[in-house]
Amino acid sequence: MSETENIFPEYFPCNECHAGILQPRHITYFTWLGSELISVPHFPAWICDVCGKREYDLKAITWLNMILDPNAGKPTKNRRRTPPPPRTQTSAPRPIHDC
Ligand SMILES: [Zn+2]
Repeated sequence: MSETENIFPEYFPCNECHAGILQPRHITYFTWLGSELISVPHFPAWICDVCGKREYDLKAITWLNMILDPNAGKPTKNRRRTPPPPRTQTSAPRPIHDC
């Protein structure tokens, strides 16, 4: 068992300054959803330790875009201070789609 565990290097050279190294960090990612500023804490990103260039994790970006997709669901603005009064169910519950 002498195989190297890591095929890919754990760090990436910065393509901005070519001197620093992009290191994995968790930052707060800000993005706009319509007119609302969305902040995503603990968002995975790669930060250059020399020039500070940020490269966001592509999978995380894809995941975020999927969540923030306006077609995926309506953003609810109602405040959840008091739960709505229970009503008699008039419509059948929607089945959950299988992926
Ligand atoms: Zn850099």
